[in-house]
Amino acid sequence: MVATRKQNTLSSKDQHNLLTVLPGNAQNIGKRHEQQDSFGFLDINDSELISRAGFLAVVADGMGGLAMGREASTLAVETIISEYSAKSSEETIAEALTNAVTQANANIFAMARQAGLAGDVGTTTVAVVIHEGYLHWISVGDSRIFLFRDGQLTQLTTDHTYANELAEKVARGIISQEAADTHPERAALTSFLGLETISHICRSDSPFKLEQGDRVLLCSDGLYNSLSETEIVENMNEAPQKAADILVKRVLEKEYRYQDNVTVAILGYGISIQPTVSNPEVRPKLRNKKKPLWMILVLGILISGLVFAWQKYGENHSPKQEQQDPQVEPAPVQPDSQQKPGMNNSDPKDDKKNPDKPLEKSV
Ligand code: CA
Repeated sequence: MVATRKQNTLSSKDQHNLLTVLPGNAQNIGKRHEQQDSFGFLDINDSELISRAGFLAVVADGMGGLAMGREASTLAVETIISEYSAKSSEETIAEALTNAVTQANANIFAMARQAGLAGDVGTTTVAVVIHEGYLHWISVGDSRIFLFRDGQLTQLTTDHTYANELAEKVARGIISQEAADTHPERAALTSFLGLETISHICRSDSPFKLEQGDRVLLCSDGLYNSLSETEIVENMNEAPQKAADILVKRVLEKEYRYQDNVTVAILGYGISIQPTVSNPEVRPKLRNKKKPLWMILVLGILISGLVFAWQKYGENHSPKQEQQDPQVEPAPVQPDSQQKPGMNNSDPKDDKKNPDKPLEKSV
């Protein structure tokens, strides 16, 4: 919203960056005890930064089987955003993204070492930058980036899982398809942030030209393990925020007993809808979405207290009005209506698939 207010003062290049990227986001803890996914965006209101570096979105999925998954994903997102924000004019976007991810890895490894857990803390991460109509991206692990265009969903990233290595062995005739499909380690990650060095980084070879109406989807595996590609596609034509909300809602409707954390970030390009995502997560330091909820609860309590005090005041100072209308009941706190966009609080139910991300770090 602020971005549009600044419209008249922006150069055409600024407008290109600021006004044609429309973000949406949604997240849910699923059936897990902790939200270990994190995500964040550059501040869309920072026109200087967006003009210089483009619009950045990041998603990270802390490895539940390892220690400090939440801390790892949070540190990844914060580091990538802060490092990328300091991008120098000499650096290309690709270099800046790689440097930011490399620094995130170093920070996570240092955090783990300090906790005596070196090598036992990990997170995936995916990040995209849209700058002057071009898309740049980078990935480590099995979170994914998709391009949605003309009704088609295309995965831009390659999962760093052992399953992909098994597929290569099948292609070369080394093992059978059945052996690959039933391999107990097929879901193990072959690269993630948190080790001394990053095993594999997947990134765009060159800037990718976006077309009006394109959507870029970043997500944790809690989305694509729960929804089919068809189910994802069915909702991608909606405005980014609405699409993100619906995707998470549909995941929860599956009622999987072990539903993983799910995180969705969508960047719409050239969509003629005013940015309506003014939630507090569209900022550099976003992580888990609980803040809005507890803030609302506190606010509700304060309002209730004020109403109660007003009632008491009325009783003490206006005895003749005792029989008047009952006071307005203290407004019940309604977290559901206040939840942050994307937080679907519908009762988590039980389900069946998505066992925890295998804690792996094989190979
Ligand atoms: Ca996950």
